[in-house]
Amino acid sequence: MVIRSCNLETVCGPTSTLPKNDLPEVAFAGKSNVGKSSLINAVMNRKALARVSAQPGKTQTINFYNINDEIYVVDLPGYGFAKASEKERESWGKMIETYLNTSDMIRAVFLLVDIRHAPSANDKQMFEWMDYVGYDPIVIATKADKIKRSQLDKQIKILREGLGAGKDTIIVPFSSQTKQGLDTIQDFLDQVIEN
Ligand code: GDP
Repeated sequence: MVIRSCNLETVCGPTSTLPKNDLPEVAFAGKSNVGKSSLINAVMNRKALARVSAQPGKTQTINFYNINDEIYVVDLPGYGFAKASEKERESWGKMIETYLNTSDMIRAVFLLVDIRHAPSANDKQMFEWMDYVGYDPIVIATKADKIKRSQLDKQIKILREGLGAGKDTIIVPFSSQTKQGLDTIQDFLDQVIEN
């Protein structure tokens, strides 16, 4: 995919009305600090359009990036931030739920999980949610540069089992440092644009 233009077109807070877009949308979810901003920047071939955070979990917004006037990359609020208040936690859940339930334009949903760790209860809940609303979430196993090649199969198995994902669920190892897996993710986006 050649990125000719990309811009942050809409930012929705907890009380905002979600936009009615007429381009296909692909959504990215994951707990804070999983590497979601880094992945979105890599996909858009930008250094810092999505803000990479040293302090995780502050912004609770849904961000719509318009790419080439062809597709929206939708950055869902990071969840599971340990210091978040009960109210904030409820707020991200509601926002994601409302988005997944109301947008007519979602063509793919990606769930990011850290390749090094067993999924958290929130990760599992998110996977089940996406599945329940009728999507086949594509799992992206982030920070793949942090494990040895020889550990890959084992870690993927841990993720699959931890999420309760079936054998058909696609799990893509990804690293924003080495760009491993970036082609695969861009191919998914190309497929969405072409369909
Ligand atoms: P977000 O909170 O999910 O948006 O995560 P960020 O993209 O802000 O990344 C959180 C931290 O993980 C930052 O310190 C990043 O530099 C680091 N990080 C993100 N992706 C990778 C990766 O693929 N490999 C490594 N080693 N570190 C990463």
